[in-house]
Amino acid sequence: STFQELGLNEDLLKGITDLGFVKPSEVQQKAIPLLLEGDDKDLVALAQTGTGKTAAFGFPMLQKIDIASRTTQGLILSPTRELCLQITNELKAYGKHCKGLNVVAIYGGSSISDQARAVKRGAQIIVATPGRMKDMISRNMVDISKIQYSVLDEADEMLNMGFKEDITDILSHTPDDKSTWLFSATMPKEVATIAKKFMYDPTEITV
Ligand code: AMP
Repeated sequence: STFQELGLNEDLLKGITDLGFVKPSEVQQKAIPLLLEGDDKDLVALAQTGTGKTAAFGFPMLQKIDIASRTTQGLILSPTRELCLQITNELKAYGKHCKGLNVVAIYGGSSISDQARAVKRGAQIIVATPGRMKDMISRNMVDISKIQYSVLDEADEMLNMGFKEDITDILSHTPDDKSTWLFSATMPKEVATIAKKFMYDPTEITV
């Protein structure tokens, strides 16, 4: 299939052309139509790094958020600063033609006040590591009460790194009726438990 056939809008298709992506990867073919379809779809995707998973959740999120609004609508949690920056850069590239899009990265080891200022300017999407995110919530530097789409990326890694309590705390500040999309390379018991706790009847895909 083609990206056009997956239901992506013109602005995103232009970004895809710029990047030189020709054909959607397997995880993209499975996830994108599903996530574009309904507003109440939860997803568990078993997918390794390198499969194109960032675009599999990134494109639907970019298409579904209201870019005319400055409210934070999408939250992506990822285990490391490097991954956080990588996802942020990819989303910016994918959304290059989405005028007014503002994606902000939040991670430890860098100025918290700079990050708070960036959020205050109006970020529709925040990409964050759990520790710094929790810290900023407790200091009232971010408002995630209007989140509609949340992603747990590399969920197995985040749990391995001991972020379970932080993730639970962060998600408790988001609305119950949001969609949650979980991506993981493996599905140990801990990941299944998290999925059960935070998701309603998720669709499962494996690549
Ligand atoms: P990821 O699995 O999200 O880390 O993506 C791995 C790499 O593949 C990234 O550098 C993406 O920019 C690239 N990529 C993602 N989707 C496609 C695609 N459909 N065609 C070509 N490259 C892609």
